[in-house]
Amino acid sequence: MWNWKICGACNGHMMCSQRKCPWSRMALLHTFWRRYRTLTINYAPESTTFLFPALSSHDDLLRLIQAIRNGPDLDREHIVDSHFSAPNSNGKVCANAADQDRAMNLAASIIFMINCGTSLDSADFFEQDGPPISWRSNVTATAFASEVFPHESPGSLASILGDTKLSDLLRSLAAS
Ligand SMILES: [Zn+2]
Repeated sequence: MWNWKICGACNGHMMCSQRKCPWSRMALLHTFWRRYRTLTINYAPESTTFLFPALSSHDDLLRLIQAIRNGPDLDREHIVDSHFSAPNSNGKVCANAADQDRAMNLAASIIFMINCGTSLDSADFFEQDGPPISWRSNVTATAFASEVFPHESPGSLASILGDTKLSDLLRSLAAS
């Protein structure tokens, strides 16, 4: 998800003792993975009779997250249009706009660690996050991040979307 280049010595291990190896940050990502699990377990396509869901695997979700990260200056609508014009991992193209939106909200809720509107809206899970914050279709990911985290420095906003400093962000969010 973050294009980590691990050192190799930690292959198959839960942690890495090499400080420069991104795998050494795994413990710090505990909160992140707990949230990822809860959100993805509760994902349901827009309609149970709908044959071509926007997400049919974790791989589809990770590809959508990467599409958002790879296009920080593209507005949401552009990302949706280009991403969902291609087949997902079950070989089908999802043309249901509501389901595409649901998948985008899920991906954004994972990336930004806030409630961007998901199937869990009514659950206690998001109590501490407050009401959902909508990522509007004509807003870029970078602009949305600045809206949501107005007090974050440009550097930490870049780290949300950008590279490997996610653990620093998580630390700052956990402290706030
Ligand atoms: Zn390592």
